[in-house]
Amino acid sequence: MSSEIKERYKNTLTRIDAACKNAGRDPSEITLVAVSKTKPDEDVLALVKEGQLHFGENRAKALETRMQNIEDESVQWHFIGNLQTNKIKYMAHRVNWIQSVHKKKALKEIEKRASREGRTINALIQVNISDEDQKSGCDPKDLEKILKYGQDLKHTRVRGLMGMATFTDDHDIVRPEFKLLKQLSDEHQHLNDGAVNLEHISMGMTNDFEVAIEEGSTMVRIGTAIFGERNY
Ligand SMILES: *Cc1c(COP(=O)(O)O)cnc(C)c1O
Repeated sequence: MSSEIKERYKNTLTRIDAACKNAGRDPSEITLVAVSKTKPDEDVLALVKEGQLHFGENRAKALETRMQNIEDESVQWHFIGNLQTNKIKYMAHRVNWIQSVHKKKALKEIEKRASREGRTINALIQVNISDEDQKSGCDPKDLEKILKYGQDLKHTRVRGLMGMATFTDDHDIVRPEFKLLKQLSDEHQHLNDGAVNLEHISMGMTNDFEVAIEEGSTMVRIGTAIFGERNY
């Protein structure tokens, strides 16, 4: 089992390299977040052994359990799911990145909890870039006020944007959505005399990460291509 994962992982890294080459980009610009949701701890540990550092979960409870079970201090944990403000307290002691922040109220709660823990938590603002209603994220027109609020926080570092494209294999549908996120990042970069610094654009999943890399992604969130199909 773990040898299969190892092989799929290597294969995914090769595909990321190829996509970068194709787009004239350096693979070191891309952070791979391995999305381990629903998969057993052994699968995560197999990848930690291969040197994979970033892991993502989309449910607060699952993340909490995972952070408890995998004790490796070098691992960076990402929360990527729909963020309920009242769940932030369960992850603040260990989570490194919360990618799905879509309102000021969530930033305020992250700040409060991170401060109590004496920690700094990285945040990405999730923007709604597809018209599917089930996808969360802020409206692009609310981005500026959320970013301005975020820049004054002491224990929360807002480091970029995150988006999810329409779930489809059709590149003609996802490409303009990725372009929109990149454009929003460019427009809001250095807002307030440079105080806002959007280093990251988290976009691209198993179906579409090559397109996302072509369109300027710096962080890809990949589950299925690495861990295999999920059955839920
Ligand atoms: C599940 C999930 C992913 C990874 O999806 P795959 O298609 O399995 O690569 C990425 N981002 C978010 C927010 C997810 O929930």
